[in-house]
Amino acid sequence: MAGAQAAVLLTAPLGGLHLRPMTDAGDMTYRDDLTIRLCGPRGFCAGVDRAIQIVVLAIKKYGAPVYVRHEIVHNRYVVEGLQERGAVFIEELSEIPDDHRDRPVVFSAHGVPQSVPADAQARNLFYLDATCPLVSKVHKQAMRHQRLGRHVILIGHAGHPEVIGTMGQLPDGAVTLVETEEDAARVFVPNEQELGFVTQTTLSVDDTEGVIRALEARFPAIRAPAAESICYATTNRQVAVKEAAPGTDLFLVVGAPNSSNSRRLVEVAERAGAKRALLVQRASEIPWDKLGDLRTLGLSAGASAPEIIVDEIIEAFRARYNVTVELAITAEETENFPLMRDLRDVELTRADMAFVNGGA
Ligand code: SF4
Repeated sequence: MAGAQAAVLLTAPLGGLHLRPMTDAGDMTYRDDLTIRLCGPRGFCAGVDRAIQIVVLAIKKYGAPVYVRHEIVHNRYVVEGLQERGAVFIEELSEIPDDHRDRPVVFSAHGVPQSVPADAQARNLFYLDATCPLVSKVHKQAMRHQRLGRHVILIGHAGHPEVIGTMGQLPDGAVTLVETEEDAARVFVPNEQELGFVTQTTLSVDDTEGVIRALEARFPAIRAPAAESICYATTNRQVAVKEAAPGTDLFLVVGAPNSSNSRRLVEVAERAGAKRALLVQRASEIPWDKLGDLRTLGLSAGASAPEIIVDEIIEAFRARYNVTVELAITAEETENFPLMRDLRDVELTRADMAFVNGGA
């Protein structure tokens, strides 16, 4: 975990947030007080930021359309924002029309099986690989296990693109997927003495420890990867939610239903003591008429959720409550992953990323 530190709870007028006892219509109306515990870190991680920048800069440099294989990150708002700028999302390279083979195609942050860049080369496509460097690190960990003669166990969620990408780094049969402690208790392996494991980057830290313990109990010779596979961003966001959740009447996580790390944050909030926790993509999804007696709200965002939506949600509460924001900060993040050489000559401005970060 990068820059971990003791939790800090501050009461702060954040970004212009302050008590506002008037309705938007201007009349004096009684409002309940609401404290929002806003987690930090939250929202975009360095890998997501980089992936979005790659699409934005590719459109800037090469013009539209730029093809993107799979959702660049699991967030509808981000995908739609990029579509408006000229990105075309596809699931398979075969969807690129023959007369567009000169257009760039970007691979998503989740990583791709080795067959995908091979297919791109066979089709003579120009591709930009936005795989997060921390996902690439897991690919290398899996390949290292195999090079050392070990069968690889991948702890992760079946069907997630990152899992498909990691399994696709090795030949068929070289990797076995384990999702739960129950799976670990019954998994068959070819040789118990030659085993290694890696994990998906966005899992629950606590659940994964349980699965690893179960594997180590059954297979004492199993080897861990050289470094932690769950990434700093996943860990940091879970730690912040654990700090903020106890005693909250409701905990909201901004994120998409297909975002693994966002869904884990909902589970972490519930286990850490939030009375209930919900995943929402926009303020419009908040069940306003079912919030009940709300005094303390926890708020975080998954690694693929833009800050502009966090702002939207805080504003939506401000329109209904006298809001005080407390910051629950458990780490400072300074990670920044460099772009590929092809795009380093294009300037990235604040305005280019305002559609997700706000401001201009
Ligand atoms: S969640 Fe972690 S692994 Fe995934 S893109 Fe972000 S930093 Fe990379």
